[in-house]
Amino acid sequence: MIAAWSSHPREWENNTWVYPVISRRAGGLSLGVNLNPDHHCSFSCAYCQSGPQEGHKRIPVDIDAVERELRNFLDFYASGEFAKCKAFENVPEQNKLLKDICLSGDGESTIVKEFPEVCRRMREIQKEYTPKLGAFKLRLITNASHIEAPAVQQGLSQLLESDGEIWAKLDAGTEEWFKKMNRSPLHLTKIIDNLTKAIKLYPLCIQTMVCDLQGEIPSEQEIDHYIENLAAIHSANPDHLVEVQLYTVIRDTLLKGVEPLPKEFLERVKTKITDALPVKVRCF
Ligand code: SF4
Repeated sequence: MIAAWSSHPREWENNTWVYPVISRRAGGLSLGVNLNPDHHCSFSCAYCQSGPQEGHKRIPVDIDAVERELRNFLDFYASGEFAKCKAFENVPEQNKLLKDICLSGDGESTIVKEFPEVCRRMREIQKEYTPKLGAFKLRLITNASHIEAPAVQQGLSQLLESDGEIWAKLDAGTEEWFKKMNRSPLHLTKIIDNLTKAIKLYPLCIQTMVCDLQGEIPSEQEIDHYIENLAAIHSANPDHLVEVQLYTVIRDTLLKGVEPLPKEFLERVKTKITDALPVKVRCF
């Protein structure tokens, strides 16, 4: 089971855009939509496991192909054939139930110009397939760098109109740690501002990477500032903060010297958060 939970290969059959994963965070089968097979991203995180952003030829998103791959997989799932797949034979049946279709992958979905149209089609597919498959969510996993852009807002208003969720990255309390972790030309204040705007409109889950960065780990002061940032986002709409997910490195990272932190460290950060705020926190 551990391998199935932690393995997130982007390859499925001959697909370019759509891939199934068994996701502990989603609680079952998550169908990923990767709009960035070219690794295009607005961050360059020290712990990124997707591979280098540089040196890849841009791959324009083929919206019709995204839709075709989504429909093909959902038809395959509806036929019962997915449940018999050899690659997932050790996964318990209840963990093979479809929980979401999730914009995720090797880069940042919201910087792709086709994002709004992909969102529209995903929502159409959700409406069409829910009667056959039962309820499943639509989600966006994002680094929150472009959430406020009008085209992104337009896409989100369709993608998330039926109980959808944003799962967004927040890795830092201070600008200094943000620069080391996320290595973005943007400022942390911009990310917090975007998250504060987003939570006013949509249910939001915060995903936070906690790791050892070439011998440096988050200080007590850094963690305290991170919790202050969480509190600011939470106060904008407490009902919309679904949960905080703390996680550490589990696969090889591109940058050398990025190491996992022990479970006890994550549990301690969790306790500090829950002592300060009435939010659900899970450690992975
Ligand atoms: S936001 Fe995600 S894809 Fe982009 S660099 Fe960071 S970890 Fe990699």
